[in-house]
Amino acid sequence: MSEDCIFCSIVAGDIPSRTVHEDEHTFAFLDVNPLARGHALVIPKQHYETVADMPAEVREAVFTAAGELTPAIEGAVDADATTLGMNNGAASGQEVPHAHIHVVPRFDDDGVGP
Ligand code: 5GP
Ligand code: ZN
Repeated sequence: MSEDCIFCSIVAGDIPSRTVHEDEHTFAFLDVNPLARGHALVIPKQHYETVADMPAEVREAVFTAAGELTPAIEGAVDADATTLGMNNGAASGQEVPHAHIHVVPRFDDDGVGP
């Protein structure tokens, strides 16, 4: 756990979140400022800043969880499709320096995306 990391605090339960998935290496919860209904974030439980920082085993677990959550969330919110996105580094738009994959449900002609 990294001190002062919002997402580490969410994993620890110190900041409440709407959890949608948890396993040995990963945690997923609804984005507090969603781009669309059902917008979720999939993160490693351990603190890594970017995709490059994650060990292969953790990276595989995080992307597997995102892949498995995609149809589950689509079904839950009746989405037509899903955009997966990941910012790595401040210049890319990463605001929270704890690696996370955006799972953004898409609806016909919604015109949004990360
Ligand atoms: P980034 O810009 O780093 O790729 O995305 C960070 C995301 O984290 C944003 O979509 C933002 O709404 C979300 N976020 C930031 N703080 C919190 C929080 O405390 N709880 C939740 N659930 N989401 C957060
Ligand atoms: Zn963290």
